[in-house]
Formats: sequence, C-alpha cells, structure tokens
Amino acid sequence: MEPEIEFTPSVDNAVLGLREKRLAQSTRSYKARGCRVIRCTRCLLPKIHCLCSSISPMTSDSRFCLLMYDTEPLKPSNTGRLIADILPETTAFIWSRTTVDPQLLTLLSDNSYQPYLIFPASYALPGRVTKTVDKQLGKHPLFIMLDGTWAEARKMFRKSPYLDNLPILAIEADESSDYLLREASTKEQLCTVEVAIKLLAQVNEITASEQLNSYFVNFKQRYLAGKANRSLESLIAHSAENCTAKL
Ligand SMILES: [Zn+2]
Repeated sequence: MEPEIEFTPSVDNAVLGLREKRLAQSTRSYKARGCRVIRCTRCLLPKIHCLCSSISPMTSDSRFCLLMYDTEPLKPSNTGRLIADILPETTAFIWSRTTVDPQLLTLLSDNSYQPYLIFPASYALPGRVTKTVDKQLGKHPLFIMLDGTWAEARKMFRKSPYLDNLPILAIEADESSDYLLREASTKEQLCTVEVAIKLLAQVNEITASEQLNSYFVNFKQRYLAGKANRSLESLIAHSAENCTAKL
C-alpha cells in the first residue's frame, strides 16, 4: 500500500498552517508525485534527506506574502515555503478566482507595510513598474509573491482585482535558474525562493538573503538526491519485472 502524506500538526509558520487547512478541505488524500517514498511531514523531503534540523529562522525588515495556487502548499517541489521557514513572519493565502481572504485585504491596506507585487515588467503598463524599493520610514516592504507554475502565476496576476493598484517590482533573471525540478520551468524563470533571495539582496538585507540562499542550496541538493534515489529504485523495480517476465 502506498503511504500518503500525513500531516503532523506542528504549525509554526503560515505555509504549514495553509497546508493543514488545504488537507482538511480535501475530500480525498493528496498524493504527491513519488508518493511511495516515506516523506518527512514537515519539509516533505524523503525522510532520509530531511532538512528540518537545519532550519534557523530569523527576522527581517522586509516581509513576504505568498499567494499560493490550490495545492501548492502540499507539493514537495514548492519553494515558496522555504521563505516562511527562514522568515516566519511571512504570510500565506490560498488564491481563489472568486473570493479573497479578508485578512489579505487587511494586510494590503495596513499602513505599516509598503506592498509590491513581484512580477515581470513586460506584463504591466510601464507606469506601474518600479525597479527600486522605496524604503519609507516606519514601513516594511511587503513583497507579494504569486506562487504556482508560471501559467498559474499569470492567471493570478490577471484575475486578482485587489492587486491591480499595487506597484509592480520586476525581478528579471540575470543568471540562469538551476532549479529545474519542474518540467514546465525554463532556464529563464527563477523559482519563488530564488526571487526572494534576490529581493533581499536588493534591499540590502544581506544576512537574510545569504541565509535563505544556503537553506535553498541545501534543500535543492537533498531534493535532487531524493529524486535520483527514486529513479534508481524504479529502474531496479523495472528491470526486476523484466527478469520475472523472462523467467
Ligand atoms: Zn523534514
């Protein structure tokens, strides 16, 4: 029998809270790809590659808000959650085309934050795009990240009227992303955590940027090691089947 992802309620950041909520809403169990693997219920990596003990949370002046598409909080390949692991003041919401969480609206209108929507400049009217963060006294920059596949992020961008008046801060990939965990991504697209690492560097939060980067490097290595194990296992299983067939 295939083990399913179960959740141990040890909620200590917003993404873990969303995951719990999303699992409770599901009428059937969510099965991640490669679900035969026994995964850590917190970091979702195969248990032998668990990186939970290396999480060292910190505070930063910049704040992140993740708008997550549907099952994104449940996916082992999701990287937005890494931001919340290191910066637990990160907020997270499940995106919906028809409704908006009132808490998200409250956050967007809160005077202690200066919100920016993070999205490529080519999708917006030029007047809306900014390349720099205006560090206003007493305000935290609030970076709104659309967390999903590229097609999902575009959909969230187009169909969220409450984001329409926010300035767009454009982060362009000046180097290739080497996080090719998802077949749909291309070299030009940075994954969510890579964008956050760049944003933190841009606003001179170097320690936070470096800490998040080293956590991401660690995650990437372990994720890919888990993937390699799985391919090897399926290869062995497959050749065993072939042998049986020949016998
Ligand atoms: Zn873990």
